[in-house]
Amino acid sequence: MKILVVGSVALDSIETPFGKVEDVLGGSATHFACSASFFSDVALVGVVGSDFPKDHIDFLNGLNVDTTGLEIADGLTFRWKGYYEYDLNHAHTLETQLNVFEDFKPKLPVKLRNPDILFLANIDPDLQLEVVDQVDGAKFVVCDTMNYWIENKKSSLDEVIKKVDLCLMNDSEAREYCDTHSLLESSRSMLSMGPKAVIYKKGEHGALMFSDSTHFSAPAYPLEDISDPTGAGDSFAGGFLGYLSKTEDFSEQNIRKAIIYGSVMASYNVEGFGTERLVRLTHEEIENRFNEFKAIAHF
Ligand code: AMP
Repeated sequence: MKILVVGSVALDSIETPFGKVEDVLGGSATHFACSASFFSDVALVGVVGSDFPKDHIDFLNGLNVDTTGLEIADGLTFRWKGYYEYDLNHAHTLETQLNVFEDFKPKLPVKLRNPDILFLANIDPDLQLEVVDQVDGAKFVVCDTMNYWIENKKSSLDEVIKKVDLCLMNDSEAREYCDTHSLLESSRSMLSMGPKAVIYKKGEHGALMFSDSTHFSAPAYPLEDISDPTGAGDSFAGGFLGYLSKTEDFSEQNIRKAIIYGSVMASYNVEGFGTERLVRLTHEEIENRFNEFKAIAHF
């Protein structure tokens, strides 16, 4: 098993200027796993309630996502409800129902305890810490988070960031977490805590990576038909880590390429609601858009 992800598996209700859906399959771990599955083996740890449609589990298994670490607990599945205006970089949360996540204590099956790559997707940082403690010898540990946890569990999040190799955040979340408008300053501050690199996701403005010695700026794909930006960050992470897992090369050059694969997956994800677009995505489309990115960024 190559990549292990812990995060939310959700039923999302979303409204954008282009449509509206209710209780569709979502969650940080779901979007990540769907995207990563195009590149590598991925296993998921999380919890859903007894109301979670079995079809969704079949769908994940159909993508070859290992769901043996997905617990089905008594109670209701985590739900997120939000909307976007024309500024699609900004999600407005209307409701977060933690439900079964409130009492969730992750217990990793033995076969999931030695992944090459561990992705701590957006979820309660205390749960991220519990998973880190059960994993042995992962080569690359990466975390993500969101404003909800920065505002409600800052000190637990500090502990997570101290334990990871790379930290992924939206630029606005990094500014909030580090209490500065400057992304250079937030990078310095996060790198001093332990990670070797930080990547800022900037939605329709691309992505930035900072390490002690380098800075890389990736463009975003100029999209005409956006439906729903939900899950773009997690699909980015899935493409990014999926490609690193597939190539087993963590050099800076390859990390740059992986950021472009992440951007490709995010750009496809936003073309449909929920997981709709990735379901019919092909490897050929991924390679075509990767090559378009090359052309866009050529100097
Ligand atoms: P993103 O990639 O940042 O757009 O993440 C979108 C996913 O995050 C949605 O499918 C939501 O179900 C999930 N989500 C929203 N709020 C939270 C939260 N507080 N904790 C964990 N997951 C969340």
